[in-house]
Amino acid sequence: MRVLVTGGAGYIGSHTAKELSNQGMEPVVYDNLIHGHREACKWGPFIQGELHDLERLRECLREHKIEAVIHFAAYAYVGESMKDPGKYFWNNVEGSLSLIRAMRQESVNLMVFSSSCATYGIPESVPISEAEIQKPINPYGETKLIVERALHWYAQASPLKYAALRYFNAAGADKSGEIGEDHTPETHLIPLAIEAVLGKRDPLKIFGTDYPTRDGTAERDYIHVEDLARAHVSALHHLANGNDSFCCNLGTGNGSTVREVLDELEKIAGKPVPADPAPRREGDPPSLVADPSLAEKLLGWKAENNLSDILQDAYRWHTK
Ligand code: UDP
Repeated sequence: MRVLVTGGAGYIGSHTAKELSNQGMEPVVYDNLIHGHREACKWGPFIQGELHDLERLRECLREHKIEAVIHFAAYAYVGESMKDPGKYFWNNVEGSLSLIRAMRQESVNLMVFSSSCATYGIPESVPISEAEIQKPINPYGETKLIVERALHWYAQASPLKYAALRYFNAAGADKSGEIGEDHTPETHLIPLAIEAVLGKRDPLKIFGTDYPTRDGTAERDYIHVEDLARAHVSALHHLANGNDSFCCNLGTGNGSTVREVLDELEKIAGKPVPADPAPRREGDPPSLVADPSLAEKLLGWKAENNLSDILQDAYRWHTK
């Protein structure tokens, strides 16, 4: 199967392109390289382009005889989305609508969409199942929800089928060390903590030590990027086999607090992670942990890596 991977030069996109190729499919990467890395596209053709460029997208779908799309391309900085919501609605919503339009016009009917647990906002109950009400608390989460809803209605009215995958906290790196997490600017806990322990940046700030969790720091469900990549390919097979569209969580079902992450990293690095308590970061919920049972039921998919595997692979990538 020939698969267009939008955002395939980015973190999760490049790992998924590699997994597609490992499973005998042909990924074609479409990326504007604003945040992506050209050198992370090694598994098939690369096209530099914008999602808003309808004609370019159509040409690319035709030329490469694309049969399905995995759509990652999006801005993903929650803080930035609070300050500049227009940037997020323009790129993440209007860009996605342009892509769906191109797919409709070229009769490409399968899409796996990169959604987020940010669509849930502050959940009523944890672990979070897909039945949880989606009430985003930032424009980033709102843009992901709007695209989910657009896909829902397109799927009612056309042959389009989609899977919306709501990731929890993607982390880790490719086990062979070929690709890993490289954001500019970096805002995520695990790469920042690794750089702090390696002395490459200032001590980590622990955002919030008074949360109602076991040690007062915020709890997240960290999921290995290779497990995410496998889930995308499984979702594609599921749709291609004629099953219905669906939305599902991708997480491990196990939460780790910021302090637990730092303690585990300390074991791997062999030294304490320099870290100081700091005020809570605006818009951070206390606890986000997935109920991943639907993904297992539908796709037979389960995360294979735990926090220690994630940290070991991320540490190896950062010390390479
Ligand atoms: N965090 C932190 N210090 C940092 C970056 C993150 O304490 O420098 C915390 C953050 O408040 C959250 C968790 O680590 O509770 C994961 O944050 P990250 O930005 O990696 O992912 P998010 O959950 O925001 O998507």
